[in-house]
Amino acid sequence: MIKIDHLVKNYGNFCAVDDISFSVEAGEIVGFLGPNGAGKSTTMNMLTGYLSSSAGSISIAGIDILENPLEAKKKIGYLPEQPPLYLDMTVDEYLNFAYELKDCKYNRQKHLDEICNVVKISDVRKRLIKNLSKGYKQRVGIAQALIGNPPVIIFDEPTIGLDPKQIIEIRNLIRNLGRDHTVILSTHILQEVQAVCDRIVIINKGKIVADEKTENISRAIENNRRFNVKISGPQREVLAMLKSKPGIVYAEVLAERDGDAYTYMIESEAGIDIRKNLFYTLAEKNWPLIGMEALGMSLEDIFIGIVDKSDERRSLRGDKTNKSRHGKAALENQIATDIMKNTRDAQKNDTDIIK
Ligand code: ADP
Ligand code: MG
Repeated sequence: MIKIDHLVKNYGNFCAVDDISFSVEAGEIVGFLGPNGAGKSTTMNMLTGYLSSSAGSISIAGIDILENPLEAKKKIGYLPEQPPLYLDMTVDEYLNFAYELKDCKYNRQKHLDEICNVVKISDVRKRLIKNLSKGYKQRVGIAQALIGNPPVIIFDEPTIGLDPKQIIEIRNLIRNLGRDHTVILSTHILQEVQAVCDRIVIINKGKIVADEKTENISRAIENNRRFNVKISGPQREVLAMLKSKPGIVYAEVLAERDGDAYTYMIESEAGIDIRKNLFYTLAEKNWPLIGMEALGMSLEDIFIGIVDKSDERRSLRGDKTNKSRHGKAALENQIATDIMKNTRDAQKNDTDIIK
C-alpha cells in the first residue's frame, strides 16, 4: 500500500532522513518510533506530499507521489504534528471547509455525521475550536483526516500533550480505524506503538535501525530484567546477599528509605526470572519483602533485545558471516546507546517517557 524507497531529505548540509526504505501492506498499523529529532515528521511530511524529498521515491497505492501528487494525496488522510486547525471556526465550519478543500464526493451531511460519531465530537460541533480542550482539538484534527475516507491514514505523534485518559481514547480510536485502513503512526513512546501497532519501525538520526513485528518487540519486553525491590532488613547484609545471589548480575541500594526498609535496584541474568527465588531467599533470611516493581525497559534495552534475537536467529541458521555480523551488532549497539541518550534528552522536555 505504501512503498518508500531510498528516501533522503537534506536540510542544507544536514541530512535529516538518510536513505530509508520500508513498505506497509494494506491493513497494517505500523508504528514509526524514534526519539525527538530522529526524522519522523520529516518522513511523514514527505510521505504526504507536504515536503519534497532530496532523493528516493514514495508510492501510495501504486501511485508515485512525485509524478502524481494530487491522486496520491487523495489516498491519504494526514494528522500532522500541529494539526492545521482554524481556531476561530466552529467544528462544523471547519469540517465543511475541509470537505470542500478535499473535493469530497460523499454525501456531505451523512459523511460528516458519521465521522463525528466515530471520533466522538458530535456534541461539540457548534463550538469554536479555540474553546475546545486539547483532546477534542486532536479529535477534530483526526476527523479532518478521515474526510473522503482515504485508505491510508498517517498520524504524527497523535497523543502528544494529551492527558492519560485522552491518550487511551485516541489510541482506541486509532486501533479501530486500523480495522479498515492502513495506518502509520509516529511516536517517541514505546508503549504507544506496542499498544496499537502490528509492526514497529525504529528510526534514529535519520536511519532505520529496526523493523520488527510488535510481538517480537513484546517478547523482548517480557524478558524484563530490572526490578526495584523494597526489603526490610540490614542494608549491608541485604545488599551483599543480592550481589552474591546466582541469577542476579547487578544490585545497588537506592537512596530511598522507608522505616527499616531500603529499596534496591537489581538486574537479573538474561533469561532468568529471579522473582520467586528471591522471595523464598528473603523469607528464609527473615527479611520481609515489602515491594517489588518491574522497571520499564528503555528503548535501548528493547533494541538490544531485538538485535540479540536476530543474531541468535542468524547463528541458528549457521550463518558463516557471523564475524561481520558481530561487527554490525557492535555498531547497532552504539546506535542503541545514542538512542538512549537522545531519548533521555527528549525526556527532559517531555513527561511521556518511554517506560
Ligand atoms: P522528529 O519528528 O523525529 O522529532 P524531525 O523530522 O522533526 O524529527 O526532525 C529531524 C531533524 O531535522 C532534526 O534534527 C530537526 O532539527 C531537523 N529539521 C527539521 N525540520 C528542519 C528544517 N525545516 N530545517 C532544518 N532542519 C530541520
Ligand atoms: Mg516530529
